[in-house]
Amino acid sequence: MIEYKIKSSTELEKAILITVAGKRDDIEQIEEYLDELEFLALTYGADTKKKIIQRLDKPDKSTYIGKGKILEIKEYIEQNDIQLLIFDDELSPAQQKNLEKEIKKKILDRNFLILQIFAQRAQTAYAKTQVDLAYYQYMLPRLVGLWTHLERQRGGTGTRSGAGEKEIETDRRIIRDKISLLKEKLAEIDKQMVTQRKSRGELIRVALVGYTNVGKSTIMNMLSKSDVFAENKLFATLDTTTRKVVIDNIPFLLSDTVGFIRKLPHQLVESFKSTLDEAREADLLLHVVDISHKNFEEQIQVVMQTLTDIKASDKPTIIVFNKIDAYKPKVNIDEFSDPIENEFLSLDELKKTWMNKLNNACVFISATQKENSDEFRKIVYDKVKELHIKRYPYNNFLY
Ligand code: GDP
Ligand code: MG
Repeated sequence: MIEYKIKSSTELEKAILITVAGKRDDIEQIEEYLDELEFLALTYGADTKKKIIQRLDKPDKSTYIGKGKILEIKEYIEQNDIQLLIFDDELSPAQQKNLEKEIKKKILDRNFLILQIFAQRAQTAYAKTQVDLAYYQYMLPRLVGLWTHLERQRGGTGTRSGAGEKEIETDRRIIRDKISLLKEKLAEIDKQMVTQRKSRGELIRVALVGYTNVGKSTIMNMLSKSDVFAENKLFATLDTTTRKVVIDNIPFLLSDTVGFIRKLPHQLVESFKSTLDEAREADLLLHVVDISHKNFEEQIQVVMQTLTDIKASDKPTIIVFNKIDAYKPKVNIDEFSDPIENEFLSLDELKKTWMNKLNNACVFISATQKENSDEFRKIVYDKVKELHIKRYPYNNFLY
């Protein structure tokens, strides 16, 4: 297994965040994306010193940002002792290589940053195996860059031309072997998981899904009185936890799942397939939304899209608007009144907003303040009961 180092707060790396925005892109939106990237960077162990937005119609093919911008950044790096550059996008292997050559500092793209965070957070052998697979799949097309990098470090003698290529070929083969080994290992674990899931019996299965950091684990703890690790970091939970929960007289299984995020690296989606199975195989989804987050409407879209990608849309879903204690909206309650800014809405007012008029059932709660938890339990209870009766029409002695 690959060893990853987790940084303590005293050794945060000084970082610059960089993104490219088109002329027509909404600047406020881009800044919110960078705020999210800053949060990701902090979770990884980097302290953001500067955020740079370059206006370009599209990213430069060979260096992602323009030549002038590179000079400007180099100067800033010199003056401020910056150790790390993070790009809010996927860099091509060539872009990454060229940037490293120009700037001579550590360069991470968004995908690799998220991969690193997953690596730091992976607890079980299962999660670690999934991360390793994603890691090697990410590395495979990037070996060329790595090799030239190493060769430069060794002062490349140039006497054995073609030696580099041979080495790359060997490295590629080693990594391909590792990838197939990891896939076999995962297939083996998957088999065990399927058996495990089957042996759970005939209970209705409910999965908490949602963007990262919205409060899924907190809700899990609230409903199951268990102690799932919850904290204000992105991807605090990588492994799926399942608990048996009983509301009134109905038992069901509740699973806490890995959170989604905008532009989740496809390597991770692929290797975390089995963790995501929990959502795919659930009878009911509780889609948790952090209503206090500025970008929560887009986060809803990201989650819905990810659910479609993993073929878990079209399931009965309850939308759980969480963190109402921290929600100070700037919304029109209805078409007649002026927008209300920076004021808390009462439950009754929340129910009059567009959010309550979506296709799915929804409920407004605060998991940490235990606000409206009775209505939340009731809505979950009713839905689980309905599903249970539908599935086991002759087995309703429970009620
Ligand atoms: P997850 O990533 O979706 O599992 O989110 P967590 O359950 O780990 O919670 C993320 C952060 O949000 C933690 O710091 C929680 O304490 C906080 N949080 C959860 N629910 C609420 C809530 O109702 N109100 C507020 N203000 N914070 C909450
Ligand atoms: Mg969690």
